[in-house]
Amino acid sequence: MPIDDTHDPALESWVESANDPTGDFPIQNLPFGRFREAGDEDWRIGVAIGDQVLDLRAAGLVRSHDMTSVMRLEPAARRELRQALSKGLAKGSDTPSRWRDALVPMARVRMGLPCRIGDYTDFYVGIHHATAVGRLFRPDNPLLPNYKWVPIGYHGRASTVNVSGQPFVRPSGQIKGPNDERPRLAPSQRLDIELEVGIFIGRGNAQGQPIAIDEAEDHVFGLALFNDWSARDIQTWEYQPLGPFLSKSFASTVSPWIVTLEALAPFRRPFTRPAGDPEPLPYLDSPQLRKSGALDVQLEVWLQTEAMRKAGLAGERISVSNFAEAAYWTVGQLVTHHTVNGCALDSGDLFGSGTLSGPQPQQAGSLLELTEGGKRPIALSNGEQRTFLHDGDRVRLSAHCQRSGFRRIGFGVCEATVLPAGTPPPRDDAQAVPP
Ligand code: MN
Repeated sequence: MPIDDTHDPALESWVESANDPTGDFPIQNLPFGRFREAGDEDWRIGVAIGDQVLDLRAAGLVRSHDMTSVMRLEPAARRELRQALSKGLAKGSDTPSRWRDALVPMARVRMGLPCRIGDYTDFYVGIHHATAVGRLFRPDNPLLPNYKWVPIGYHGRASTVNVSGQPFVRPSGQIKGPNDERPRLAPSQRLDIELEVGIFIGRGNAQGQPIAIDEAEDHVFGLALFNDWSARDIQTWEYQPLGPFLSKSFASTVSPWIVTLEALAPFRRPFTRPAGDPEPLPYLDSPQLRKSGALDVQLEVWLQTEAMRKAGLAGERISVSNFAEAAYWTVGQLVTHHTVNGCALDSGDLFGSGTLSGPQPQQAGSLLELTEGGKRPIALSNGEQRTFLHDGDRVRLSAHCQRSGFRRIGFGVCEATVLPAGTPPPRDDAQAVPP
C-alpha cells in the first residue's frame, strides 16, 4: 500500500466542508459506507467527503449498489478507484458534472451496516487487556502459555452486529455469584464495553488455500470501530471450557464507514516484539511485516449517562488508547493465522481485534479493567459513578490517525445506548443516527 499523491496533505476538495482540518473525512480519507435517504428501499453505497456522501453509482463509478463487489476488487483496481475519487473530488480538477448531483448531505441520510457481514470472528490481540483480565482471574499466572504464540480468537455471531446508532437491550442470562449455590436467570448487572477495531475482509480465499503473510493485507478492505458489548457476569459462569458464548452474542456495534488500508498507508509502524518474547513462527513473520505491519490509530471511549443527557451535558472521555501500542498481533497476522488450517474467508467477513487496552490503567478499553473488576467505581464529572453500564448509558467510540507531514483522518463514531432488560427490540428505523 504505497503512499502516493492521494495522501498529499496539500490536497483540498471542492467540497468545502472536507477542508476543515479537524474533520474526519478530508479528501485523503475517502471511507466507504452504505446509506439510505427517506424513500429509498435499498441501501446505496457511497464515500464520505466532509459532511457529504458521494453516491458511487450516481457518480458513475460503480454499476450497482453492491458493496461486496467493491470490497472484492483486486488491490490494483482498488487503488485505481481511490485515484479516480481523489482526482474527481480535488479542488480545481475536471470534475464530471454528474458528481455534483451525486452528493447527498450526511444530515439527510441514515447509515446502515457497511456491507452484509457473512461471518464474524473475535480475536484477543490486546496484550495489556489479556494480562489485566487474566490477573483478575489468575493473579500468579495472568497470561496463558499459548498467548505469545497463537493469535487467540473465537467464532462470534454476525447476526447480532448492529450499526452505530442502533440501541440494544440489556441481555439476560445465567448468572451465579461467588456465594450463590445455584445459578439463576437474570438481567446482566455487569454489562461492559470492549474497545476494538473491526477488520473487514475484502477478497476471500478458497477453502484449503491458506493466505501467506505477505499477501494477507491484499485480502483486507479496511478498518472500522467496533464495540463488542460483553456481559461479564454471564461470561464468568459460561466461559469454561469453550470460551465466551451468550455473554457476547447479544449485540456488537460497528461504525458505518470503512477506512481503507490505502487511506491508512501513512500511519504504518514497525511490528516489534518486546525483548525476551518469542519470535512469531515463520508463517506469521516477514521483513515487510516487521517494517510496517502495525497501524497507528488513536482510540477514544466516551460515556454519556442518561442524567448527563437530560442536563444537556456532552459525554465524558473515559479512556484513550492506541491500536499499535495495544495489539500484540497485526491485521495481516490475523488473516494468515485464520486461514492457516485451510479455513475460507469471504468478502464482508468481519474480525474484531479484541479489547485494545493501552499499557496504563487509564488506557483500558473495558470497564472491567477501568474499575478493577468492578471494585473501584470511576467517578464522573457530574457526580455520578460507574462500575458497569446502567440503562440509558450511551457509549461512543471514536478514532483518528495523525502524523506530521500528513492530513489527519478520522473514523467517524461508533455509538449505542443501553435499553432496559425486557424492552421490546428496537425497530429497524431506529437504526443509525446521522454521523
Ligand atoms: Mn471482544
